[in-house]
Amino acid sequence: MTRAGKGAVGRADLHVHTTASDGLLSPEEVVTLCERRDVAVVAIADHDTVAGIRQLFSECRGQSCPARRDLSWNSSFYSRGVEIIPAVEVNAELDEKEVHILGYFVPVDPGSEFAMLLDTIRRSRMDRVRAMVLRLEELGFPVELERVLSFAKGESIGRPHVGQAMVERGYVSSVKEAFEKYLGVGKPAYVPRAHLAPVQAVKSIVHAGGVAVWAHPGTAGCDYLLKELVENGLDGLECLHPEHSPEDTRRYATLAREHGLIATGGSDFHGPGSGEGGELGEWVVDYSVVTLLKEARLKRERERAGR
Ligand code: AMP
Ligand code: FE
Ligand code: FE
Ligand code: ZN
Repeated sequence: MTRAGKGAVGRADLHVHTTASDGLLSPEEVVTLCERRDVAVVAIADHDTVAGIRQLFSECRGQSCPARRDLSWNSSFYSRGVEIIPAVEVNAELDEKEVHILGYFVPVDPGSEFAMLLDTIRRSRMDRVRAMVLRLEELGFPVELERVLSFAKGESIGRPHVGQAMVERGYVSSVKEAFEKYLGVGKPAYVPRAHLAPVQAVKSIVHAGGVAVWAHPGTAGCDYLLKELVENGLDGLECLHPEHSPEDTRRYATLAREHGLIATGGSDFHGPGSGEGGELGEWVVDYSVVTLLKEARLKRERERAGR
């Protein structure tokens, strides 16, 4: 499992953001880029929302679209020539450490219990952004809440949108600098997110019938959590990620093998020039990983049916 060059085999990117959260490209633009860069499969994994998938899904009418039969239960579907895996990235935290859990094949219909959980999380995102805007004002860096909201093109607002408003006001030269000086954990304008424990995130995804994968575990610095997450249904570890060193990738691949987990990977693409994540098409895994995720989904579906 290594970073792929152009033309390399293995063309599934299992971690991509869109304007539904803090990505810069719309879901349709992501699909166009996948076509251009020869990425056959993409998991749209926005922070705490599946709106981007719903958007693509509603546009695949008239095409060969297996999932169209039933929006409440998910399989992958095709948008133009690209296979789309419905996914979400749930942000949890523990001991001031950010733990992100990817949920593959989670329900995307607005009425589901899982959708309600995401609604709650997104409402707390909005409260948090309001609190950060107040904090910035106290610090002498006023930004208009309206401007922050205008940078969020979708329903999941977050710190990158606050950062963009700060760049616009000239307080910092990049979103990255905004995080380093003000918005990152422990910085003056930082406000903690509403508490969601990593175990709870895994349980919610599993309970909803999805496949739970720990995203970029190397950035969290709490490998000691792994055992408990596995006991609560964790299915995989994101081994290949732009923030992981080759050493990290190998270590997590070994841990995945030892715990019987699926070793996944993706770019965490947030758009060209976003300063976050890697380039689309450069962080890909083989289709065999997609097959393992689908098998895990079917196994979970059978478990649920037997309950
Ligand atoms: P939030 O979801 O509001 O907690 O914001 C976290 C998001 O901000 C992450 O998903 C990244 O996309 C982005 N992010 C985190 N750290 C940085 C950084 N140092 N520079 C730029 N963006 C960042
Ligand atoms: Fe992000
Ligand atoms: Fe993440
Ligand atoms: Zn991500």
